[in-house]
Amino acid sequence: MRRVLGFLILAAILLAIAFAIGAIPGTLVATVGTLTISLSLPLAILALLVTIIVVYLVLRLIGLIFSVPSRFGRGRHERQQRQGDRAITRAMVAIAAADPRTALRESDRARRLLPQAPLARLVSAEANRLAGRPEEAEAEFRTLTEQQDSAFLGYRGLLRQAIDQQDWPLAADLARRAEVAHPGAPWLRAERARLALRTGSWAEALTLTGPEAPRAVMATAAAEAATDPIEALRLAKDAFNADSSLTPAALAYARRLRLAREERRSDKVVVTAWTAAPHPELAEFYLDTETDPIVRMKRAEQLAGAKPAHPETHLMLARAALAAKLVGEARRQADLALAGGLDQRRVWLLKADIEEAASEGPLAGTGEAEGAALRTALRRIPAAQPDPRWHCTACGTDHAVWHPACPACGVLGRVDWVAPRRGENASQVALIDRTAVSGDVAAPGSRR
Ligand SMILES: [Zn+2]
Repeated sequence: MRRVLGFLILAAILLAIAFAIGAIPGTLVATVGTLTISLSLPLAILALLVTIIVVYLVLRLIGLIFSVPSRFGRGRHERQQRQGDRAITRAMVAIAAADPRTALRESDRARRLLPQAPLARLVSAEANRLAGRPEEAEAEFRTLTEQQDSAFLGYRGLLRQAIDQQDWPLAADLARRAEVAHPGAPWLRAERARLALRTGSWAEALTLTGPEAPRAVMATAAAEAATDPIEALRLAKDAFNADSSLTPAALAYARRLRLAREERRSDKVVVTAWTAAPHPELAEFYLDTETDPIVRMKRAEQLAGAKPAHPETHLMLARAALAAKLVGEARRQADLALAGGLDQRRVWLLKADIEEAASEGPLAGTGEAEGAALRTALRRIPAAQPDPRWHCTACGTDHAVWHPACPACGVLGRVDWVAPRRGENASQVALIDRTAVSGDVAAPGSRR
């Protein structure tokens, strides 16, 4: 209805204009040489309008003729684009279906049709990877890294190749580059954390892992690996603050403080650690500053004050007393260690040493009592509990020294100081002390 109304109004306006032009009086006379043309004014206006329309149509026709080649080129380009897109789709389907022959054929086609398209390069790289042609795949991924838009795709592909080839340092480097190309991808962060743990890049692992990871373990390892003494001290302090019962953390911190000539603070750290979890390596470190056996005994008594009733404290005092030739005190402390439940080989061996020293010393009696005690100690050794050792609670392997990640199974933070149960023979278990992490660094579990 509205359109009909509009048409009627337009027709009325045009009719009015025509009448207005028709009503204009006058004549237009044009003289060219001897030729004279005379037209009424309405006819002259009509002739002008017709001329304008004809000129416009002629110009449009000329434009159309000149645009034919470019129109043809655009059509061809659009056709190529469509065919290329179809080839990419088919290649992707073939890759998903693990069909390397089709994937290669279609990706080659896509690369021919769309040589500049990053997606064509990507499917070509993936097809080559699927077809077991890593060099060709790598070349395609490398080209992708050269363009800013597709750099992440390239690094991601190269990263997977490096992981397949178990080239962990290269993988860690590529993961870092991928993160720069496209920051904030959560899976990439997790991958970087995994690679940092695997390559023993503990400082990096600390920044990448979440609160579920054993921070004290990683910070200890990072402190041990740090070359800058100030950074090492900071990391060791973090480790100790995170878990004062972790002996390697306490030792790393105390050692760094001692190197910085902060003896009193170093001693305080060992005393705190001894209160949390007495460990023979702490005692060894604490007494290490003295060579005189009597002074060492005094220092042992200082440390003993942190946890006086603990069997490990009695054992430390017994050792220090024996070294200071205080045989009676050594025997008393060794007996207290045994009474405290430390029925272990190392204690019976010490008992035997004490009785041997007693039978040889200046206060030795007839030697009969000492001889009997020595024989008892020696008899008890085979039946005693095995000595505590560093032990992976994930895979059950014993280690000569502590490791942040178990060298046998790769699990992080599970090498603990444990006393084996009676009947378990620690000496029969291979003591593995490989420095390289051979297996997967698995998700960290609970320590102790
Ligand atoms: Zn293990």
